[in-house]
Amino acid sequence: MIRSADEMKPVLLQMREDLLVKVDRLKDTQALDGTGYTNHQADDATQAFDQAKDLALRTSSQKQLRLVEDALARFEDNTYGRCDNCGKEIDLARLEAIPYTPLCLACAEAREYRRR
Ligand SMILES: [Zn+2]
Repeated sequence: MIRSADEMKPVLLQMREDLLVKVDRLKDTQALDGTGYTNHQADDATQAFDQAKDLALRTSSQKQLRLVEDALARFEDNTYGRCDNCGKEIDLARLEAIPYTPLCLACAEAREYRRR
C-alpha cells in the first residue's frame, strides 16, 4: 500500500516507457505485414485477423499511453491524485490499482452508469 500519491510517479514513468515500446513495436509489425500478401485465401484471412488484432491492441495501447501522459502532466500541475470531475482526493488504493485514472471511484462509476 502506498502512503502518498507521489509514489505513483515512478510507476507511471515506467508505464510510459513500456507503452512507448509496445506502440512502436506494433507499428513495425503492421508496416511489415502490408508488403506480403499471399495467394492463399486462408493465409489472407489469418493475416487480416492478425492485423485487426494488432490494430486494436495498438489503439488501446495508445489510449492508455495518453492517459498515462495526462497523469504525468497532472504531477506538474500538482493536481495528480485529485478527481478530474469532483475535485476530491482519489483513494490511494485506487491510484495504486489504476495509476493513470483521472477519476475517483464514485465519478468513474457514475460515468460507467451513464454510458450504459
Ligand atoms: Zn470524483
